[in-house]
Amino acid sequence: MSYVKEALERITVRNASEKEFIQAVEEVFESLEPVIERHPEYVDKNILDRIAEPERQIIFRVPWVDDEGKVKVNRGFRVQFNGAIGPYKGGLRFHPSVYLGIVKFLGFEQIFKNSLTGMPIGGGKGGSDFDPKGKSDGEVMRFCQSFMTELYRHIGPDVDVPAGDIGVGGREIGYLYGQYRRIRGAFENGVLTGKGLNYGGSLARKEATGYGLIYFVEEMLKANRQSIKDKSVLISGSGNVAIYACEKAQSFGARVVSLSDSAGYIYDPKGIDIDLIKEIKEVRRQRISEYVKHHPEAEYHEGRGVWGLKADIALPCATQNDIRIEDARLLVKNGVMAVGEGANMPTTNEALKYLLEEGVLVAPAKAANAGGVATSALEMSQNSIRYAWSFEEVDQKLHGIMVQIHKSAMEAAEEYGYGYNLVAGANIAGFKKVAEAMIAQGDY
Ligand code: NDP
Repeated sequence: MSYVKEALERITVRNASEKEFIQAVEEVFESLEPVIERHPEYVDKNILDRIAEPERQIIFRVPWVDDEGKVKVNRGFRVQFNGAIGPYKGGLRFHPSVYLGIVKFLGFEQIFKNSLTGMPIGGGKGGSDFDPKGKSDGEVMRFCQSFMTELYRHIGPDVDVPAGDIGVGGREIGYLYGQYRRIRGAFENGVLTGKGLNYGGSLARKEATGYGLIYFVEEMLKANRQSIKDKSVLISGSGNVAIYACEKAQSFGARVVSLSDSAGYIYDPKGIDIDLIKEIKEVRRQRISEYVKHHPEAEYHEGRGVWGLKADIALPCATQNDIRIEDARLLVKNGVMAVGEGANMPTTNEALKYLLEEGVLVAPAKAANAGGVATSALEMSQNSIRYAWSFEEVDQKLHGIMVQIHKSAMEAAEEYGYGYNLVAGANIAGFKKVAEAMIAQGDY
């Protein structure tokens, strides 16, 4: 049996109850076979077992008081996965489904994504099973303060720099930073990214993941003599990533016809009214079903169903395992030619293999959604030099980074015999840099 398969077996047994984590490891390791063959030092140094074991995982109690005066308890997590190339960096997710297996899958993916950006950032992730949905601002604030009261001792601008993810946006980052500052007694705003503009946030950070996704997809299409212009696009989700992917795709001349949330999806064949979406989601914090009250000609359907609509391009921007094998079959049947992963691991491994076999172009999450964390790293740079770049400067840097990530993934795939397979290429390019840094720093 190959070293890759043996390592995978050991990791599967060791983490048996964490199915999302095992899925993420499998997806990366399978593409590393030719790399391991060419680099016996990775076997000698047992890099695969080492890279799949977090450097540190922290689990803590988060008590908070609701508006009725009742004491509630949630569980907090921070997994500091790999610090070989920089301080741990990765978002916090607040969602009832969060448990160690989700945080570890996200942290593992983050190692390679952060490496691909070319910025000096290691991989980490965190979160809680707290559900911000339906909570008052006061409840969210008290939860965030309690969460940070424990987390602060484990993070710092040169140690570990959290950011947002599902359920953690500008409001939550503000409350978290306020509590950090209060406890530390210092204005160390490089400790968190995704901050408000008036206390050290970066212009274009809010837009970065969605915009970056479209920059990446456009590069992929260009490499295949295509363009996103005049294409019809399906998007799932209606959060931070989905909204700005929709905005940028439409500004590039595409027609986005769907968005969704966990209750249902909207279909607007004329193209999504992005200003209305921003008002509904960002200002009023309402459900996506609200949209059809303002656009009665559009449709709202309950449940999953986005992937059964007809279009040229699919952009899953909601959550993991959103495109399953039956959805992938529908996409292929309906003529979808490209999938761009805005969410992390939105496609099951079976569906991913099927899409690639069917010749669908796939922009993998590690590469395609790396614009968010790359811009977070730009926010850290601005905090260090106590200076703020203009929107155009940040956006231009983001664009350059996405072009470079596409190039690295494409070249790595070619070098190791995968042709134009960006899924394998992103895994290889992200992995090699970290593996080499680990070896250079000795056996630990
Ligand atoms: P948001 O919280 O802003 O939005 C999440 C969206 O996904 C909402 O529409 C939500 O619907 C939907 N969603 C979440 N969980 C589920 C679920 N279990 N089933 C169905 N729909 C669900 O998060 P983001 O937009 O920030 O994140 C979306 C994805 O992008 C995640 O996978 C995240 O890890 C990834 N990502 C985010 C980055 C960022 O910069 N924000 C960077 C890189 C990746 P509802 O409101 O009904 O829950």
